[in-house]
Amino acid sequence: MAKSILVIGGGMVGAASALRLKTAGFEVALVDPGDKRRGASFGNAGHIATEQVEPLASWPMIWSAPRRLFAFGGALDFRVGDVGAWLPWSARFIAAAGRRRFVRGTAALGSLQARALDAWQRLAALAEASDIVQPSGHNIVWMSAANVERGRRVWAQANTGPTRFRELTRDELDTYRGALRAVPAGGLRFTGSGQFKEPQAARDAVTTAFCARGGVEVRGSVVDLRVYDGGVAATLDTGEVRHADEVLISAGAWSGRVMRLVGLGPPLIAERGYSVHSAAHSWPSELPPTYFEERAMIVTRFSTGLRATSFTELGRPEPPGDERKWRWLEAQLDDLGVAFAKAPDRWRGSRPTLPDFLPAIGRMSGQPRVLYAFGHQHLGMTLSAITAELVEALVTGAAPAVELTPFRVERFG
Ligand SMILES: Cc1cc2nc3c(=O)[nH]c(=O)nc-3n(C[C@H](O)[C@H](O)[C@H](O)COP(=O)(O)OP(=O)(O)OC[C@H]3O[C@@H](n4cnc5c(N)ncnc54)[C@H](O)[C@@H]3O)c2cc1C
Repeated sequence: MAKSILVIGGGMVGAASALRLKTAGFEVALVDPGDKRRGASFGNAGHIATEQVEPLASWPMIWSAPRRLFAFGGALDFRVGDVGAWLPWSARFIAAAGRRRFVRGTAALGSLQARALDAWQRLAALAEASDIVQPSGHNIVWMSAANVERGRRVWAQANTGPTRFRELTRDELDTYRGALRAVPAGGLRFTGSGQFKEPQAARDAVTTAFCARGGVEVRGSVVDLRVYDGGVAATLDTGEVRHADEVLISAGAWSGRVMRLVGLGPPLIAERGYSVHSAAHSWPSELPPTYFEERAMIVTRFSTGLRATSFTELGRPEPPGDERKWRWLEAQLDDLGVAFAKAPDRWRGSRPTLPDFLPAIGRMSGQPRVLYAFGHQHLGMTLSAITAELVEALVTGAAPAVELTPFRVERFG
């Protein structure tokens, strides 16, 4: 009989893994409470951000933190009520930012990013929905001429992995005429990156394919998890108990809690981000995701409308969103002259982030029936397809396409 696997968490990472495992011939059940808006996979920027191979745990990030604070008009914030979560996490973040760990982290993240877009094209083909992924590239723009030179210099020194970039031509900058009050002073055109047609549509396509292949969706939240001699048993908040041979923990920002049920407490934080979405807009279809670097805001046109996202707010996933942050996003759009709904759909979600900004992907040492895939920080949409391939290799015993040692959850002791 085929091995049975319980996947906990139906965000993009869990859904992609479930489809891969089902296709490989296993009996797979995917457990999720069912609220699509809860996970980070819902309202994100939908950018296939393969250029981001340098972990954000670095000293330049630490030095620049004060001027990026929300209190000074920036997009970085710490929830006062969640100090117990972010203070110990920040100490580990600083420890992870040393040069040697940064260099090792860049190599590890780079090994995933080099395969991320191809893995997505394979997953989209498996879901028979190849149009969900668009290798559109992306743009970075600056509105102020003074920032163009500085921005170019910084990017010229950055490791951008499998992507390439060049300056945007005058004609390309002119494409923003009509979409913005003023044409950007300069910008960069990246290739080798991309976007989703719509992030939730990508997750729906993958989950639909999973069910069509005989995968089982189970509604509920895992509240207890036991490993015994012959398998694993998960108790749901509905009272149901599900048994399986192995379990995959892929519950996004909630994964730390589920991991604690099997005896390990990784230092995972919720890096909360915000978005506003407007069905009505006049953003040109030929523009790829555009990062307004001076405002730390990305604007992406999806099949369902135009979305602007920003913010890194450290804390726990539960507390409601901070009204000021949506107003800040709306004010940025207004200032740029972007046509947008007066009452846009407002969303906030939690990026699952470990202090070294590397995901955790592997099989628990000492608990071989427990696999894990979480902690994909700002890159979970980008990295979910390659992660799913690695999970499949872990389950089948095939050689993984990348070295998995840097992603062991036990690295935090
Ligand atoms: C504003 C913003 C913009 C972003 N932009 C991008 C981008 O452009 N590109 C990119 O690559 N990434 C981006 N990200 C990051 C990306 O969205 C996340 O890394 C990714 O969605 C995480 O996916 P996940 O499946 O791990 O978690 P999630 O999508 O959060 O899913 C976790 C799921 O697990 C469920 N769950 C939790 N606890 C339990 C339990 N006990 N039992 C069962 N189920 C449980 C939750 O309800 C949820 O459905 C962005 C994030 C934000 C917030």
